[in-house]
Amino acid sequence: MREKQRYDSLDRFRILAAALVVAIHTSPFTSYSADADFFLTRVLGRIAVPFFFMVTGQFVVSKFLGGGFAIALRYVKKIALLYGAAILLYLPVGIYAGHYKGLGIADGLKLLIFDGTFYHLWYFPACILGVLLVYAMGLLLYKNQDIRPIIAAAGLLYAFGLLGDSYYGLAAQVPVLRVIYEAFFTVFSYTRNGIFMAPIFLLLGVVASKKREIGIRILWAGLLISFLAMTEEAFLLRHFELQRHDSMYIFLIPVMFFLYQLLLATGARTKNKRRLRHLGTISTWIYILHPAMIVVVRGAAKAVHLPVLAENSLIHYLAVLIGSAIAATVLAAAGQLLAAAPKAGTKPRKSAPHPASAAPPSQRVKASAKPRKSAPPFQCGRAWIEIDHKALQHNVSMLRSMLPPSCKLMPAVKADAYGHGALLLSDELQKMGVSAFCVASVQEGATLRRHGIDGEILILGYTHPQEFPLLCQYQLAQTVIDYSYAKQLNNYGASIHVHIGVDTGMHRIGERSENAGQIAAIFAMEHLMVDGMFTHLCTSDTQSPRGQAYTDAQVNAFFQLLSDLKKRGITCPKIHMLASYGIFNYPQLAGDYARVGIALYGVLSTAADTRQWQGKLQPVLSLKARIATVKTLYAGESAGYGIQFTAGSDMQIATIAIGYADGLPRALSCGAGSVLIKGHRAPIIGRICMDQAIVDISGIEGVQAGDTAVIIGRSGTLEISACDLAQQAGTISNEILSRLGARLERILV
Ligand SMILES: *Cc1c(COP(=O)(O)O)cnc(C)c1O
Repeated sequence: MREKQRYDSLDRFRILAAALVVAIHTSPFTSYSADADFFLTRVLGRIAVPFFFMVTGQFVVSKFLGGGFAIALRYVKKIALLYGAAILLYLPVGIYAGHYKGLGIADGLKLLIFDGTFYHLWYFPACILGVLLVYAMGLLLYKNQDIRPIIAAAGLLYAFGLLGDSYYGLAAQVPVLRVIYEAFFTVFSYTRNGIFMAPIFLLLGVVASKKREIGIRILWAGLLISFLAMTEEAFLLRHFELQRHDSMYIFLIPVMFFLYQLLLATGARTKNKRRLRHLGTISTWIYILHPAMIVVVRGAAKAVHLPVLAENSLIHYLAVLIGSAIAATVLAAAGQLLAAAPKAGTKPRKSAPHPASAAPPSQRVKASAKPRKSAPPFQCGRAWIEIDHKALQHNVSMLRSMLPPSCKLMPAVKADAYGHGALLLSDELQKMGVSAFCVASVQEGATLRRHGIDGEILILGYTHPQEFPLLCQYQLAQTVIDYSYAKQLNNYGASIHVHIGVDTGMHRIGERSENAGQIAAIFAMEHLMVDGMFTHLCTSDTQSPRGQAYTDAQVNAFFQLLSDLKKRGITCPKIHMLASYGIFNYPQLAGDYARVGIALYGVLSTAADTRQWQGKLQPVLSLKARIATVKTLYAGESAGYGIQFTAGSDMQIATIAIGYADGLPRALSCGAGSVLIKGHRAPIIGRICMDQAIVDISGIEGVQAGDTAVIIGRSGTLEISACDLAQQAGTISNEILSRLGARLERILV
């Protein structure tokens, strides 16, 4: 349960941070002590905004660094919308206060992009600018998972910002700097903005959200010491009157690092997750609303003749804070009601959306460790798989374009993503905006979660009751195998997300579609949250009349069930029927998800099908192996186990470092299969061994130990596809790919 607690602590802290921002804008202690107020609003309060940036760093930036523009864009759009709404909200107040009098276009842009159109709103453009800047820096500087170059760049920006903020007094003493800063200040009023302040904290969020083996005591000590240092720094700067503004300090960076790690390490146990999720929204609204509440409280003080409301700084602060909190809670609740109401044109659903996918980023289940991307190809040892990032991207776009926008891709990343490497693939897919996955086993799901895959994860197969706790711990959705399995799940007693499997004719898993009564009973089970209902079509790949008729019957049975359920007053959750072949042959049946497997990897099951859909998909995987040695086999000599091959004349042979334990089917022995070397075909001779195979390289010039043999993929003008291999081995590409061994390295190219 540790992962979830972490997030709860972040959510709680968001409220505290919002309260600190309100303090910054109301100065609670001015009626009592200027120093105390300085401490609260200019020192302690300064952790609030960096904290918000870091949350964005953890949940958004860490997903798009080095690619994934869609993720950055989605976030930017969301913030831009919020900013737009806030601008409108504050327009009347700003006009009333005379903020926009005599404003030229240049000044208008300055406000819009840097300073914010109202004093607290700078945060939104800063967020947008910061995220875009970090994205761009990532493209330039983020290589091989090494975050240090971008951090260095963001650090330089922050240093420049410091000299324009808290340390301006120093910069101003150097004439050149003074001129430079004065010039900059015509573009923006403060260096506390999206360029100089946001990037470092967005990246610090990425860094600090990774698990580190630092003890709680050390974290506390680090926080305390750096916070004392920051306090000293702030009071000194104030004493020497060096501050032009006071948002940025040197020691703010270690303070935030320790604080964030501490929050992640010490989350409190909680039962009511939904309410916590709510806190994120409430904190946002407090942030947006409190300046309006300041105006309201002042007005109210006059109206009800209670001057103390405005005059005593502490009472004023509390009034504004409480007022904002109430307004924020009301708005957040209204938002939830709106979100829960069925939208016109979409299917209403009964159960709440999956927490991991519908929750704001702040709530998502763990996203820290990234799957390791291995070193570049030349460092690969004996045998490896190359994943073509561009091909994957192409297939995702192609498949999305074949489906209506309401249908989300739910890639099947079971069996190590059909041999491609589930962590590597899921991470890339997540960067491409994919937010739902399906796997075969609970362990596969848990592994994805542990490595930072959030969003929805559906387990398509059987989970043993002893492993039910993992479903809760990792927020995995379980397929209901049948009615009695549903009872078992329900008896576990904790809330479990499920999709009901419906058997419409495959007769593998799923409750029979004609048993509407039992399926209705599953919906009513106390502890099951039914997120979806699906069936699997077992002949959607054939276009024979018999196959099509069978599919029609399956589909009809599924729709019949939906209408039966409706008659019983059960509105249907998300539904899905299509796997890869279904997308090609029955796109009109797209429900809410397409459980796409083999097609996503750019192949279809057979060579004939692949030819039929040629040009649409690109193979994602290549399989390669090192040539271990080259030698001459003299006429009459035999090679390999069982001496199945004998040389008719002198010939050149090579041993390649891959065998059936790596997934090279033994059926390809003795000339049934071949590999590609230097653009030529080299037949496999003799029996394939567990870890090695021997190939005939006669007639291929200049082959040396250390060269590469291509087992699946291109070499020169030749290509061997997974389907070719499958055909030679008498199976389908799905089997070839999913059996590729764990000891193969998987690298992204
Ligand atoms: C594996 C699987 C899929 C994916 O199938 P493809 O044909 O590879 O797209 C879809 N749905 C279910 C239930 C599966 O088991």
